[in-house]
Amino acid sequence: MAEQITQLYDIRDDRFRFLVFETETLVEHYADCRWAEGPVWYHDLGCLIWSDIPNQQLLRWLPDGHVSVFRSTNFVNGNTRDRQGRLVSCEHGGRRVIRTEADGSITVIADRFEGRRLNSPNDVVVKSDGSVWFTDPTYGIQSNYEGYRAEPEQPTRNVYRVDPQTGAVAKMADDFVMPNGLAFSPGESKLYVADSGGTHYRDGPRHIRVFDVADDGRLLGGAVHYETDNGVPDGFRVDGDGNIWTSAGDGVHCVASDGTLLGKVLIPQTVSNVTFGGPRRNQLFITATKSLYSIFVGAVGIQAP
Ligand code: MG
Repeated sequence: MAEQITQLYDIRDDRFRFLVFETETLVEHYADCRWAEGPVWYHDLGCLIWSDIPNQQLLRWLPDGHVSVFRSTNFVNGNTRDRQGRLVSCEHGGRRVIRTEADGSITVIADRFEGRRLNSPNDVVVKSDGSVWFTDPTYGIQSNYEGYRAEPEQPTRNVYRVDPQTGAVAKMADDFVMPNGLAFSPGESKLYVADSGGTHYRDGPRHIRVFDVADDGRLLGGAVHYETDNGVPDGFRVDGDGNIWTSAGDGVHCVASDGTLLGKVLIPQTVSNVTFGGPRRNQLFITATKSLYSIFVGAVGIQAP
């Protein structure tokens, strides 16, 4: 467990001074991933599970510092848990969203839309009604590094919703270059979705968009809510006050619900994703290239369960 003594915060708005602590330390828990992603906190077990996509495995961190292989994967990327506590994962290799049952068996939640294979599901969130929302860019089929190279079968890169009763897969938005991380606001009246198209396209998007979620589930609006000034937004989470904590090139950017950049937690490697965990849900876990970090903050996560 190595501690880093460098400038830790870039404070842009006084509101950020209520969300971070000068006395806290960024702790690096593990440093041997090839590309770390998809952190998910297990409140009942008191552990953190995350993906090392190229190494085709899920890793597990325990608060005593022990890290072990949770299981091997077929290039799993984003992870979350559903309302029953089951692990829901985006699998590049199988080009599908899967659920791990209590006995360890795998249930396929989505692998096709309109009869054609998905690209490579990237990140996923489960709404309180049990619907599963996920993004489907092409990162996992562009080469054999994070999946298996293949031509896309979908004409666009979409945001999807899986109906909790019927299992039907519906396209909710299709005007993205590379839809990536996604999260609901507290109360779920808004859905935020990152577009990280700037990774592969000059002048491509590097922003998070905000949609209103209509009573019938449709997405309305979709304006740019926040544009990063460093790298791209990949995965992110929303805290109980509605602030977005998003990955970026130089760290974790904290963005208010009004779109203002409040400040940054500076991280020495490119950040891919974050999640809140710990006994009080105020420990921000950060997957960043090779490493898993955490830092205690003044915000509390809202991810269930
Ligand atoms: Mg992602």
